[in-house]
Amino acid sequence: MVKNINKLSLKAGYMLLILFFIMITSVKIFSLDKLTVRTLTEVCILNGSSASTYGEDGSEIFYIKDGVIVNYDIVYAAGVTDEQIAQWQAEAAANGVNTQSSISNSDTQASSDDSNNSGTTNSSNNSNSSSSSTTSSSQTQTEAPTYTDEEIEAAWQETDRVESTCTEAGYVEYTNSLTNETKTEELELAKHQYEEAERIEPTCTEDGSVTYTCSVCGDTYDEAISATGHSYEWVTTKEAGIFTNGLEEEICSVCGEKSGATHTLSAKITNSVVLLIICGIIIVTVGASSFILLHKRQAKNVQQSKKS
Ligand SMILES: [Zn+2]
Ligand SMILES: [Zn+2]
Repeated sequence: MVKNINKLSLKAGYMLLILFFIMITSVKIFSLDKLTVRTLTEVCILNGSSASTYGEDGSEIFYIKDGVIVNYDIVYAAGVTDEQIAQWQAEAAANGVNTQSSISNSDTQASSDDSNNSGTTNSSNNSNSSSSSTTSSSQTQTEAPTYTDEEIEAAWQETDRVESTCTEAGYVEYTNSLTNETKTEELELAKHQYEEAERIEPTCTEDGSVTYTCSVCGDTYDEAISATGHSYEWVTTKEAGIFTNGLEEEICSVCGEKSGATHTLSAKITNSVVLLIICGIIIVTVGASSFILLHKRQAKNVQQSKKS
């Protein structure tokens, strides 16, 4: 009976001891490492990497793999909320994190484990799926020197563009996809969009002009149009009569201005013709009267000779 009591108390003692160990380890997993789990959860989701912990039997338990939570119990137990998870996932998506790739950085995992002084949580130092707390900035710093100048030069991409107007220069912003550097190139001013706004037609003697205005900024300039000059034509201003001369003058068909040049139009019967007729009449008259006189004298002479 006493032996049985001793055996029972021994069994109870063992059970208490085992229970105590279970409590210690669970406290270590779910309370001592809460900070580690929370930190690694954030980092692993942001970087698309993995985080693992060791279970009681020494087997590795992944709770984040390739940025995706595979064991919510551990994550929730560490006090991580769905809201936080959603926020980290959104940030990771915004940064273009590929959740399929895992980034190996065992040193960070080891140091975070040391700081929590945990014997149950270990990183697998030689595994490809080791956890990572690499941030995007340190990743850039460690990888940048491996790019050649040609690769960096080829990685510039246009990320923003503001077109120029005629008054303000636009710009193009480039971002380097490897180094995350940005640079801006200013664009030349755009040409004015001139349209004809006003036109003053030229006259024979005065210049005209065309005013052009930019439809965008209102800038204006004038362009002169030379005077056309007179368009002279010969115009009969006085018709010729039978005895009187006519007149032809050079006159501008547009404005009526006279150049001063004239042509005289001859009368239908000119002075010389009149003179010729008068002369003819005189000759005929004189001829006729001399003939008559001569004839009278001859008749007289015939009568006198008859008398004698
Ligand atoms: Zn303009
Ligand atoms: Zn004219």
